[in-house]
Amino acid sequence: MSEQSAARIGVYPGTFDPITLGHSDIIRRGAKLVDRLIIGVTTNPSKNPMFTTDERLAMVRREIADMRLGNVEVVGFNALLMKFARAQGASVILRGLRAVADFEYEYQMAGMNQQIDDEIETVFLMADVSLQPIASRLVKEIALFGGNIAPFVSHAVCEDVERRVGEIGRQGDY
Ligand code: ADP
Repeated sequence: MSEQSAARIGVYPGTFDPITLGHSDIIRRGAKLVDRLIIGVTTNPSKNPMFTTDERLAMVRREIADMRLGNVEVVGFNALLMKFARAQGASVILRGLRAVADFEYEYQMAGMNQQIDDEIETVFLMADVSLQPIASRLVKEIALFGGNIAPFVSHAVCEDVERRVGEIGRQGDY
């Protein structure tokens, strides 16, 4: 097969702890840019996630099914991103870029990844302006302190987070 006719495969890696409406928006946009989009859910335990790998994989799979995107699949990985991307046959890494705060980290990571494998391009996408401030870390923080996370995650994820917060105990006192 010539390079021009080969399917373009993209990898969108992340922790997705939990998947937010910001992530879903990036997935929807990314799925239009490639023939196949592989969502790489990192299983790296050092991030101390609220949800286990299996829970995060299931949550992302459920969101994809709800979005009815036929060219997206979800894969767990615990490896160097560029090795994972190459093993998946990807030519593009997708990352979401929020405000200035994301820039330095993403710039550094894309630069180093370029040195590791110069044939795989990192492409940055912007979520809808209304979804840009959303971050998984803040969703968890708001939920732990009893705030309403409904504007930031799907209904199903909202229930998952509230159930987990119920298990580990709400925080805050004033
Ligand atoms: P990681 O631990 O790799 O940063 P995340 O799950 O937090 O994993 O994020 C995965 C990707 O999605 C990152 O590129 C991040 O910048 C992007 N992202 C997360 N939230 C948003 C958002 N609200 N808008 C745009 N991009 C986002």
